[in-house]
This record gives sequence, C-alpha cells and structure tokens, in this order.
Amino acid sequence: MIYLDWNATAPLHPAARAAMEEWLGVPANPHAQHALGRAAAAAVDRARAAVAARLDWPRDGVVFTGSATEANATVLAHGRWLVSAVEHPSVRAWGAETVGVDAEGRVDVGALADRLARGGVDGVSVMLANNETGVLQPVEEVAAVCRRAGVGFHCDASQGPGRVEVALPAAWVTVSAHKLGGPTGVGALLVPRGAPARPLVRGGPQERGWRAGTHAVPAIVGFGAAAAAARPMVSTWRDAFEAGLRALGGRVAGAGAERLPNTTAVAFEGVEAADLVMALDLEGFAVSAGAACASGSAEPSPVLRAMGFAGSAVRVSVGPTTPLDAADALLGALARVLARARGEDAGTG
Ligand code: PLP
Repeated sequence: MIYLDWNATAPLHPAARAAMEEWLGVPANPHAQHALGRAAAAAVDRARAAVAARLDWPRDGVVFTGSATEANATVLAHGRWLVSAVEHPSVRAWGAETVGVDAEGRVDVGALADRLARGGVDGVSVMLANNETGVLQPVEEVAAVCRRAGVGFHCDASQGPGRVEVALPAAWVTVSAHKLGGPTGVGALLVPRGAPARPLVRGGPQERGWRAGTHAVPAIVGFGAAAAAARPMVSTWRDAFEAGLRALGGRVAGAGAERLPNTTAVAFEGVEAADLVMALDLEGFAVSAGAACASGSAEPSPVLRAMGFAGSAVRVSVGPTTPLDAADALLGALARVLARARGEDAGTG
C-alpha cells in the first residue's frame, strides 16, 4: 500500500517513536515530587521547548491538549467568533457567524473587515492551510484587519508544520502532533503571554491551569521529537503529479491559489470521488475523498461547496518520504480506474 493520505494523519516519525519508547511503561507523573516525576517534568518541558521553537512562539505560551480539536474548542468556547466557511469542523462547530471564500478557497478579507466594522464579534478564526485543498489563507491580511478592529485572531495551523514554515501573526494558534509525524492524541494551543487560563477541562493545575489531567508523557515527548524533526517541504512531488493530471482531465481545487506543497484535491468530470478512492484502494493507493472526517458521508464537502467547486474531489497528500516514482504509479492507476469508470476499457470489456 502506498500511503498518500498524510493530511489525515502522517506516519509516526522514527525520532518520535524512539522518544516515545523511552517513556512507555515508565510510571512518570510530571507533577510527582520524586526523581521519576521530576524527570518526566523535564521531558515534557523539553518537548514544550521543541514545539515552541518550531512555531516561533514563547515556550510558556504552549499548552498541551489532547488534540487540535480540543485546542480549537479551548479557545473558541468563549465569546462570539467569526470563522471562515472552509474551516475544519472542529472550528466551524463554534463559529457564531461565517465569512465566505473566493473561488480559489481564500477567505474574503473585504467581507471580513466589513463585518468586523459592524461590531458584536469577539474574535476571528481563519486557518493557515486547508486540510482538503491545501489552499493557504492570507493570514497576514487577516491579522491586520483583526488588529484594526481590535479583536483576537485565532489560527488553526494544524496542517502547517512539516509542510511550510510557520510563524503566525495570530494571538492564538492550534497545532496537531499527528499531522507532523507525532502520535495521535496530543495537540497544542499556543496562547498569548500572560493570558488568564480558561480551561475547557477543569480540575488539577496542569498546564498552568489551562488543561487539567495528568500529562500523556509518551505522546508529548513524541510530539516534541516530531516537531524538532519537522521541516518545510518542496512541491516537486505535487507538481509532477499535477502535470500528469491534466492529460487525464483532472480539475484541481484552488489551482490558482498558493497551496501547501504536499496537497492536491482533484475532481474528474462524471466520476464520484468516493468511487475513485475505493478503486485506488484496490490498486494499492491510500487516498481520500475530501477530509478523512467527512468522507464516508454522502454529503458534498462544505469546503468545496463554499468555493463553488462543482463535483467531488479526491485528496492526495504526501510527505517528505513519499517516493517520487509513486506519482507516476498513481497516475497510471488513475488512468486505468478512470477508463473503467468511463466505460472506455475495451480491453477488459
Ligand atoms: N484542524 C485541521 C485543519 C485539521 O486538518 C485537523 C485534522 O483532521 C484538525 C483540526 C483536528 O486535529 P486532531 O485530530 O488533532 O483533533
């Protein structure tokens, strides 16, 4: 199986695996006073420093959570948020209002500014990069509009680290470990320096009151190791793949926008993406139809709908270890599968 679904979850990085193995089975609660507890606290702190360095954020502003979903909820549960129409469901779930995007999937900054001028909004949440299309949002412009309006800016950057450089002009940032080579079950919310804790999960004093519950030490050290190893990618694979798609009649969502170097969402006239995903699975390729959390449902993707993009799209998302020849192999498989779907495969009747 050739794995081309890194935006759903990236394979565990060997450095993350090694770091985690050291802590699996160690009875280490970082809040314990004894030597094992202190060692665990130091390991969590090193991971915090690694995540902070990767995201160019003060170390004491990194709050470990159980996921990016939880990090989003921690910040968005308070106040009235204006969110873009293409946010991940874990952000859209909290948006009191939505601002639209253009045909390339970029948020309409003019409409955002107009809405903020009318007042009644506490904050804006616009992602760094879309998980389905890879389209990068104009976060500098969004930040400037929020500054002028005097409202907070939250950016879900879950698809950023390990794909592009991330240094965001936002007050709040969300990241996810498992998108960048860390384990599932851990994420982080980057909070403004000195912001008073507003925990979603209440109880103990962990994470300076931001998130109660004993630290998942192996997961957190895995996150730290993966963050330290994460580097921006180049678009060689994606560009080679997309060049071949033209001959197959593929239409790439957000083709005119700046996008992540690892992501292609492509639609083929008259062929359902869900059918292509199943056919490609049989050919040995793991790809998805839109987001992993949305696929499996017959509903059209809200992200593509917001862009006015007709049809359903197959998402191909790769990583730094994806072999270049897998692009040709996938194009070959797509040609076979599409010929069958379009009834052109005279060879097999
Ligand atoms: N935000 C974005 C943009 C994502 O792509 C994802 C992953 O599906 C999430 C949030 C949720 O991440 P997690 O699985 O860590 O909750």
